[in-house]
Amino acid sequence: MNHRLDITHDPERKSWVDSANDPRSDFPLQNLPFGSYRCAADEGPRIGVAIGDRILDLQKCEELGLLTGDARVAVQSAGTGRLNGLMSLGRTVARELRHQLSEVLGSDSSAVKYADRILHRQSEVEMLLPADIGDYTDFYASIHHATNVGSMFRPDNPLLPNYKWIPVGYHGRASSVVVSGTELHRPWGQTVTGEDAAPQYLPSRLLDYELEVGFFVADSNCLGEVVDLATAEDRVFGLCLVNDWSARDLQKWEYQPLGPFLAKSFATTISPWVVTLDALEPFRCPSFAREADDPQPLAHLDSEGNRRRGGIDLQLEVYLSTPLMREKGLADHRLSQGNFREMYWTIAQMLAHHASNGCNLRPGDLMASGTVSGPAKVNRGCLLEITWRGSEAIVLPHGEERKFLQDGDEIVIRGRCEAEGAVPIGFGECRGRVLPARERPS
Ligand code: MN
Repeated sequence: MNHRLDITHDPERKSWVDSANDPRSDFPLQNLPFGSYRCAADEGPRIGVAIGDRILDLQKCEELGLLTGDARVAVQSAGTGRLNGLMSLGRTVARELRHQLSEVLGSDSSAVKYADRILHRQSEVEMLLPADIGDYTDFYASIHHATNVGSMFRPDNPLLPNYKWIPVGYHGRASSVVVSGTELHRPWGQTVTGEDAAPQYLPSRLLDYELEVGFFVADSNCLGEVVDLATAEDRVFGLCLVNDWSARDLQKWEYQPLGPFLAKSFATTISPWVVTLDALEPFRCPSFAREADDPQPLAHLDSEGNRRRGGIDLQLEVYLSTPLMREKGLADHRLSQGNFREMYWTIAQMLAHHASNGCNLRPGDLMASGTVSGPAKVNRGCLLEITWRGSEAIVLPHGEERKFLQDGDEIVIRGRCEAEGAVPIGFGECRGRVLPARERPS
């Protein structure tokens, strides 16, 4: 028996919001992910939780007196309509809010009489970025991805010596993180098109996606304060899906010696709902089983608890639709499927490593895992791997081919957790469409 499970995970509990009781719903009563949205373009952002195909308006709940104590304070802290205030209060407060929301939405709650005042249809609102993202860090935590990409460039020695000792990462760009549904233009940049040729400034020709999982920081550590691995998850508010769009031609030219820069910073798409670690509790699993001859992590990145339950059994899928497929009314094509439990490093190790030099993390900071790839070909999390640098085109069922993304292509990432004895929960979707490059800047 997992002692961290409580009444909010009870699979017998139902909601008075009917659509939440559909077993196919991503958002049953047991999930309650947080997000930011607005009802009209001229209105400010509000915070809510997803329930079935509706959103529960948290500010309305607070005004109607449906929340008390810390849960009430938590909603009042989100005056900006973003989740940073709630995140900054820490996971204990968020857990109290989750408990009260589970009661408000439970089938025996008298709050049903306010249904018209506290619910919105998800189809009628605009989802926004869940938090003001101060900093964004992207890791490289899948050994399968690192090995695949490394072997394209260094067949005899795919993994660099640091890989099994530190969760490798780089600082991404926070300003260009966008919410699911936002369209993006193919970026311009410097690319080298032939051996010994000078670079040219052109629209990227090798545009790719990366299937990733993100997590938001809850309360801060002070500058200079390191975070124990044992308490690292206390500073993780929750998870979302991430598409780290990547221009491989720009990346190849620019990445040495300081890592990715403009090949990544033109756009990063995230799903709007933040699924809390509390909601994910029934789906925890052991962390990656290292090979017998792999080094064990240094003590500050290793613990019995992290080995036993540092992983998250989160199934992931990526779908593509092309303009021709939409014209023909064809269903999205699944490009890959994988699982977040295949990552070499856990979210706790990534966070503890990030703070291990005293770097202060702040509420609303976003971290992403790096491309989630698994051991099999079907688990490859980006086109660079699926097409092996463009050498093996994907042939879609209706005959079109792809090596990299073309204008009009749309990528959708989905995530879902299932476990025996638990109600399945999902992440919603992370969707983005590629528009043609803008006119050449003069
Ligand atoms: Mn990435």
